[in-house]
Amino acid sequence: MAGARLVWLETPSNPGLDVCDIRRIVEAAHAAGALVAVDNTLATPLGQRPLDLGADFSVASDTKSLTGHGDLLLGHVAARDPELAEGVRFWRKTVGAVPGPMEAWLAHRSLATLQLRLERQAANALALAEALRGHPKVSGLRYPGLPGDPAHEIAVRQMRRFGCVVSFTLKDEASAERFLGSLRLVMQATSFGSVHSSAERRGRWGGDAVAPGFIRFSAGIEDTGDLVADVLRALEKTT
Ligand SMILES: *Cc1c(COP(=O)(O)O)cnc(C)c1O
Repeated sequence: MAGARLVWLETPSNPGLDVCDIRRIVEAAHAAGALVAVDNTLATPLGQRPLDLGADFSVASDTKSLTGHGDLLLGHVAARDPELAEGVRFWRKTVGAVPGPMEAWLAHRSLATLQLRLERQAANALALAEALRGHPKVSGLRYPGLPGDPAHEIAVRQMRRFGCVVSFTLKDEASAERFLGSLRLVMQATSFGSVHSSAERRGRWGGDAVAPGFIRFSAGIEDTGDLVADVLRALEKTT
């Protein structure tokens, strides 16, 4: 980290769902004189509190789980140090990235249900992960809330809720497309965190280092039994 002014990390990471030990990275970064920003989009402040773990900034796309209805574009930055916060505020003012009144109103209205949404979405994500664990057509299953997941141990130490995103890999591009096309309750979409479940074959964008059959699945608030049944039924249709 020598020479770095800012260490920027995303945990859990999107779409791979790896988890970094925030405290350890903060210690190393601060020892090297660098500030730390944590992208907290996936967890939201009710799932993970980066500033309490020592980070200087917590940043998030609130387009996702925080507002949770897939109907607005928004983000936020939180900082502990008032001077750092003022620097961000000044930058926002001069650059002009200020949210519109409609977006701010939608976000405020959505926050009232944040805890309820997160609880149900995390419960649905865990139920899905449990249903997919050991499934013969599924490999590389990841969910930080699933006991036995490579990230679970660190996740339990620093997170309060594990989010709505589950990732896994099907045999190939055709299997993944067949799976997605067979889902009835789940929309194909790139964003995540909505009350409506969504999924996508991540490789279609070509930007991430993922297998052609890699699926990023975002669990919504649907009835848990219905959602799991829909996913298992769609898997039956794949090769
Ligand atoms: C979606 C996303 C962003 C970008 O947010 P937008 O609100 O869509 O501009 C940034 N970071 C993470 C981790 C994301 O998932």
